Amino acid sequence: MSVLKGGGMKTAICKGCGADLIWAMTSNGKLMPLNAKKTNVGYEVEVINDKAVCVPIKGHLQHWATCSKAADFKQKKGGD
Ligand SMILES: [Zn+2]
Repeated sequence: MSVLKGGGMKTAICKGCGADLIWAMTSNGKLMPLNAKKTNVGYEVEVINDKAVCVPIKGHLQHWATCSKAADFKQKKGGD
């Protein structure tokens, strides 16, 4: 099942692991599945009182990076 939200955001459920996904276009015009749930993806560095402080950045990771079934998708040749 897929649902269109405002702004044409298309969501889906991963057939491999059942996670919530968002399909979004990359700058190359290809669709990429992202985890719907935001996680810490890195840090911004802010200088506060002359000290560099790590500020976590939250964002959507590529689903392939976290999917427990990612290997299944890569070997999707032939079919079964
Ligand atoms: Zn998955």
